[in-house]
Amino acid sequence: MYKLMTPGPTQVLENVRMSRSLACTNPDLDTEFVEFYKETCELISSLLHTKNETLILNGEGILGLEAACASLTEANDKVLILDNGIYGKGFADFVNIYQGVPEIYHADYKHTLNVDDLAAYLKDHHDFKYATVVHCDTPSGMLNDISRICPLLKQYNILTVVDSVSAMFGEPLDVDQFQIDLLCGGSQKAVSAPPGLTFVTISDDAKKAIKNRRTPIASFYANLKLFENYYETKWFPYTMPISDIYGLRTAFNNIAADHKLLNRHKIIGEATRNTLQAAGIKLHLESGFSNTVTVFDTPDQVHTEWILDKMKSEHGIMLAGSFDDLAGKVIRIGHMGANATISNMIETLSALDTVLRELNVSLHVSLSEYFLHYVNSNPA
Ligand SMILES: *Cc1c(COP(=O)(O)O)cnc(C)c1O
Repeated sequence: MYKLMTPGPTQVLENVRMSRSLACTNPDLDTEFVEFYKETCELISSLLHTKNETLILNGEGILGLEAACASLTEANDKVLILDNGIYGKGFADFVNIYQGVPEIYHADYKHTLNVDDLAAYLKDHHDFKYATVVHCDTPSGMLNDISRICPLLKQYNILTVVDSVSAMFGEPLDVDQFQIDLLCGGSQKAVSAPPGLTFVTISDDAKKAIKNRRTPIASFYANLKLFENYYETKWFPYTMPISDIYGLRTAFNNIAADHKLLNRHKIIGEATRNTLQAAGIKLHLESGFSNTVTVFDTPDQVHTEWILDKMKSEHGIMLAGSFDDLAGKVIRIGHMGANATISNMIETLSALDTVLRELNVSLHVSLSEYFLHYVNSNPA
């Protein structure tokens, strides 16, 4: 077994794994399970600082994104796609599948989305039913300022669909204050449960838009409306994955009890970036650094696979490369959720230091020593 230091799936703590082995009831017939599901949804809403309803759906993160788009999109609806990363651009596919018309707002892939530029664009272009935004675009580690982007879109009555799968609980997120209509999360990133579940928070405006559709939602599995009266009728659209939800609940209990979680992400993110730069390693981005993942360019004289293979086979640690245009060009360290501890980072950076030196990459500092020094002089 490798120590996972990938930007999802992340490490799963023992109490989450144990919860997944609890005795099972019939989730369709046992009304206690409906209560448990609803309480878990309410816990998620409270941790995301929202009065909006949360629904847990039986599929990994992608299902949440598709369900948001499927439930909002009707034929010929215009949708603004904010694109400064691979996931950002990917939303256009869902809009196309459901016969909407995506308008891609393309921005620099090395910089956080410039909100002033977007504001200028929206002055003359704001006839959109909704817009899609990625909070942390994981393949590059790009963080976008949804605290400013979503309220700006709402000024034009544009609904917002936010993918925060790899940012939530590692980056500050206040759904009501940021005015997010549909927020999508997943179990396998900072939440630190195994892959398999997604959850979506739904605002009243989004519910209204779904209710006022002229045509039915063109999906069953990705249809948020099917859950409308689940609690009153004690009936789910399909049988809920009870063990997955037991595990998810414990993962959220862990988050609720961990009052230093966000602060730890901030310190670790900053310390990791500072350490790599001090060593002479080039960070991939110019701005918009998420504290959940650090992405650096593969040094010139080596191959990405050499580093990843040595980290695995000689140190038992799994880091990630990336995909699409970034395949073979960068390395990603996922320091989110249960991965995000000082000791995990010391172990990872110490191994990375050894691997890079063995591959004749010169480093100006010792990675683990610099990191530790940084953390100790900037305590959480
Ligand atoms: C991980 C992730 C998802 C979910 O996709 P998976 O197929 O589960 O990896 C969606 N959006 C973002 C930004 C992610 O990082």
